[in-house]
Amino acid sequence: MGRVNAVRLPESRSFSMLDANLQSQLKTYLERVTRPIQITAHADDSAKSQEMLELLETLTTLSSQISLEVRRDSGERTPSFALGTPGQDIHLAFAGLPMGHEFTSLVLALLQVGGHPSKATAELIEQVRNLDGDYRFETYFSLSCQNCPDVVQALNLAAVLNPRIQHVAIDGGLFPAEVEARQIMSVPTIYLNGEVFDQGRMTLEQIVAKLDTGAAKRDAEKIATKAPFDVLVVGGGPAGAAAAIYAARKGIRTGVAAERFGGQVLDTMAIENFISVKETEGPKLATALEQHVREYEVDIMNLQRATALVPAGDDGLVEIKLENGASLKSRSVILSTGARWRQMNVPGEDQYRNKGVAYCPHCDGPLFKGKRVAVIGGGNSGVEAAIDLAGIVAHVTLLEFDDKLRADEVLQKKLRSLGNVTIITSALTQEVLGDGQKVTGLVYQDRVGGDAHRVELEGIFVQIGLLPNTEWLKDSVALSPRGEILIDDRGQTNVPGVFAAGDCTTVPYKQIIIAMGAGSTAALSAFDHLIRTSVPKSSGAVAEAA
Ligand code: FAD
Repeated sequence: MGRVNAVRLPESRSFSMLDANLQSQLKTYLERVTRPIQITAHADDSAKSQEMLELLETLTTLSSQISLEVRRDSGERTPSFALGTPGQDIHLAFAGLPMGHEFTSLVLALLQVGGHPSKATAELIEQVRNLDGDYRFETYFSLSCQNCPDVVQALNLAAVLNPRIQHVAIDGGLFPAEVEARQIMSVPTIYLNGEVFDQGRMTLEQIVAKLDTGAAKRDAEKIATKAPFDVLVVGGGPAGAAAAIYAARKGIRTGVAAERFGGQVLDTMAIENFISVKETEGPKLATALEQHVREYEVDIMNLQRATALVPAGDDGLVEIKLENGASLKSRSVILSTGARWRQMNVPGEDQYRNKGVAYCPHCDGPLFKGKRVAVIGGGNSGVEAAIDLAGIVAHVTLLEFDDKLRADEVLQKKLRSLGNVTIITSALTQEVLGDGQKVTGLVYQDRVGGDAHRVELEGIFVQIGLLPNTEWLKDSVALSPRGEILIDDRGQTNVPGVFAAGDCTTVPYKQIIIAMGAGSTAALSAFDHLIRTSVPKSSGAVAEAA
């Protein structure tokens, strides 16, 4: 069976206006349905209800397995519709119209309610089925939210798998009174049994880990039984994925322990500099990374946070201690725990992240061509970013907290020579402004006079530091003053058998393709280390040949 690729509908377009092409594509998907799908719609006379009914009626024409019952004055959210199948207790509903980014969620829900198996691992499916409790989830989404479909699809699948899990996905824009009453400021926001459960992108694995309180203990017990690895990769971003693939292709026992498989890529939308792929989206690339790693015999241990590294002793095995109390052992380790951007922590920053608030000028600069942007931070990276952006955008305002820029003089000179740059020092950024959809400006306070000023602009690049995720290594591995793992050009750290790659290291330029290259280098170096250390000392000639 092929996979369902994201099918995105424009937010306002009614279903019957779709071109024949998409209708026939849907019809083909719906051929995978193996059991009846009953749609129960709750409608009134509003235009939105009519639009929903039009969509649902069209669905019934695309598969003989789909039937529709319309209820009025039912006391349910209106417009909304539930999906079910005879003989199965499924509680899955959409309140509003799942168009825009949520259309794929509707297609997947139809397929799964209609008996088509999901792509979740057998282990995860079993874990969801075994959840012992009554869970009533409500997810608030918006049609333009790119993080929402993951959550909606995860909870829909959970509702299909376990009759004690209920899920309704609610278009916040259509139910403003609820959004107001619950004071929902960002989507996705997930409620469980009437209380806030979480916000932001979440996978089914993460949701289950949060619900299943015994899971951490079971995981620890399972991990404790694992035999030592040849290569253990810590971190599952682009660097870790590349390292795992390169190692596994050598036929050696490879594992990946990652807090969140996919890494920063999961928080990225448009990616336009992944060479040979003109344009992609972060979550799509993260899925592709995982699928590629799973092509090989790699033991992926997701949602596992490493807390300490113990260098190899007499047994030649490096130990990685995990937060859940378990330990993993390996003949070599590749550290690829990445980094995180330091945030301003001001109102509006989170709300407009990826909607004008950006952290990576190499990545997102071209999206602001001809627009006005600010760069926050007057160190080397901020000034470099401002110079870079000045060549692309209409105008750059650089804001520095200190009373002078901290960048190298040569960079400052270059910056000052540019005609479309304004430099403001002693500026404390206080708020990101927006219109609900995107950034429209910022407010800063002049630290000398104390006045607040407003700058109208479309983009804000935050350049106040990239923090490597290496705090847990400071007692075991040599780090630079900035906390980056010191490596040589083979990815070797100061600890024998321990290699590192990607944003957590001293490698210049933190980018996906660079992290992947570094991960591959580290894996080849680890393999080289293994073939040299695995050969008994007595057969020196063989060791040399290897
Ligand atoms: P990461 O992607 O950070 O992955 C680190 C991994 O380690 C994750 O799996 C994490 O969960 C795990 N981890 C961390 N700590 C631990 C621990 N203690 N134990 C276990 N696991 C741990 N680059 C581009 O080339 N193009 C772009 O367009 C682009 N856009 C970006 C947009 C944004 C918003 C951001 C934040 C970054 C962007 N980047 C872009 C940069 C790019 O994402 C990074 O350079 C790249 O992801 C680095 O890969 P990595 O594997 O080194 O680290």
